Amino acid sequence: MKKKIIILGSGFSSLSAACYLAKAGHQVTVFEKNKQVGGRARQFKKDGFVFDMGPTWYWMPDVFEKFFADFDRKPSDFYQLNRLDPAYEVYFGEKDSVSISSELHKICELFEQEEPGSSKHLIKFLEMAENNYNVAVKDLVYRPGVSPLELITAKTITKLNQLFFDIRRQIANRFDNPRLIKILEFPVLFLGAKPGNTPALYNFMNWADFGLGTWHPKGGMVEIVNGMVTLAYQLGVSFETNSAVEEIAIDHNGVAQSVLVKGTRHTADVILSGADYHHTEKLIREKYRQYSEAYWNKKTFAPSSLLFYVGFDKKLDHVSHHTLFFDAEFDEHAEAIYDKPAWPKDPLFYASFPSKTDATFAPEGKEAATFLIPIAAGIEDNEEHRKKYFELIIGRLERLTGQELREHVLFTESYCVNDFVDDYNSYKGNAYGLANTLTQTAFMRPRIKSKKVKNLFFTGQLTVPGPGVPPALISGKIAAESILKHLDS
Ligand SMILES: Cc1cc2nc3c(=O)[nH]c(=O)nc-3n(C[C@H](O)[C@H](O)[C@H](O)COP(=O)(O)OP(=O)(O)OC[C@H]3O[C@@H](n4cnc5c(N)ncnc54)[C@H](O)[C@@H]3O)c2cc1C
Repeated sequence: MKKKIIILGSGFSSLSAACYLAKAGHQVTVFEKNKQVGGRARQFKKDGFVFDMGPTWYWMPDVFEKFFADFDRKPSDFYQLNRLDPAYEVYFGEKDSVSISSELHKICELFEQEEPGSSKHLIKFLEMAENNYNVAVKDLVYRPGVSPLELITAKTITKLNQLFFDIRRQIANRFDNPRLIKILEFPVLFLGAKPGNTPALYNFMNWADFGLGTWHPKGGMVEIVNGMVTLAYQLGVSFETNSAVEEIAIDHNGVAQSVLVKGTRHTADVILSGADYHHTEKLIREKYRQYSEAYWNKKTFAPSSLLFYVGFDKKLDHVSHHTLFFDAEFDEHAEAIYDKPAWPKDPLFYASFPSKTDATFAPEGKEAATFLIPIAAGIEDNEEHRKKYFELIIGRLERLTGQELREHVLFTESYCVNDFVDDYNSYKGNAYGLANTLTQTAFMRPRIKSKKVKNLFFTGQLTVPGPGVPPALISGKIAAESILKHLDS
């Protein structure tokens, strides 16, 4: 029978769940706090420039294909994908950078130049990573995270040891060259934790990087959002924007009854929240919350970020669509993010110049740039810090790439901890959720189904499987399946 399902938030996980639940015949309404849908993947436009405010890397194209295939669609029905070549560029010092090709044999050549004999270790490492990808991303991550037994299958039994040692050690056992080590450790940063605290099983991210490639949807990541929203409308989902849920009402039997939005109560048979988990629990009475403040405080959160969206009045030289500035010590920066939260002295940073490959991002002859410095969630954010770090990275960019840039800046907009809190109700201003560490994987993450409220469910980057756009699509599917099972029982 058709049930009324209310979803909080319109990030990727909510959009994914909304599509599956509507396809199953239910009446789905999404309430989104902000005026734009898409959650952290909103877009910002100014003077002919366009900026993806959140995600910029399109990895694991098979996950998107699988999502759309569940609705007899393809990504190309909604957006045009281009494989980037180079996938990205990494700076290690002044005019000292390497480009990661989209072709594996060229990556092997690069490895040989940096560390003779290393390409054969790379090939073996990638075979293992591909194998892990096939087991983890095509199967394990689609499990609901309710029991450790989910992880034990005929295919995984030989891999379980990789959950108990870290990827840093695994890479260091195979490669000596510090530049290659930095390149190989980079993909797990998407999981939100230090490589030394990330299970080796997650080396499937290296297969995602070198094997499956870096893609770009023409027009930006927002095109995926637009595609999913179009699909959701076709399936009958309704959207209410500028509509923050202020309370979730629960009766004495522990059943969620309704949500309060702009003074009006909306009843539902099931409530699913894709808003930050910690925030959602604040919307219900204390006795129905599953996790205490102390619980959240002890968790390893993915970093927050200081972002700058910058319009340049000219094209920039010696940079690629995705450019990583790894000319600083990662361990010191990581300590300031995870161990002793503080503003980093000498940060690594990432820059995206999408107008290098996609003319829709900037007026002709100009360049759109997004800069991202990962920082500890919850640290003090003020104008002084923002100014200081803009000066620091623009100076580094000039020096490393050998060009004058300051006088070519048309405008700069910054985004940081306070904005993540204000815009997304994000816990401590985290940018991308709860990290995937040794003790925060699968059944050890906050649950999809509430233990205390019978018809309340959660999805998104704080529950299973974890941070990132592909995991958010998967999280939405897992949540929808859990809801359908609950409705059938
Ligand atoms: C700067 C940045 C860079 C990133 N880079 C990448 C990348 O390159 N590649 C990648 O794969 N991933 C990347 N990520 C991670 C990825 O964007 C996220 O993991 C993913 O988008 C999270 O989706 P979600 O559905 O969990 O939640 P969100 O996108 O956070 O959506 C939650 C929604 O809930 C809404 N909400 C909150 N409270 C309420 C309320 N009370 N009522 C109604 N609505 C509410 C919020 O407004 C928001 O729209 C990045 C993230 C950031 C921030």
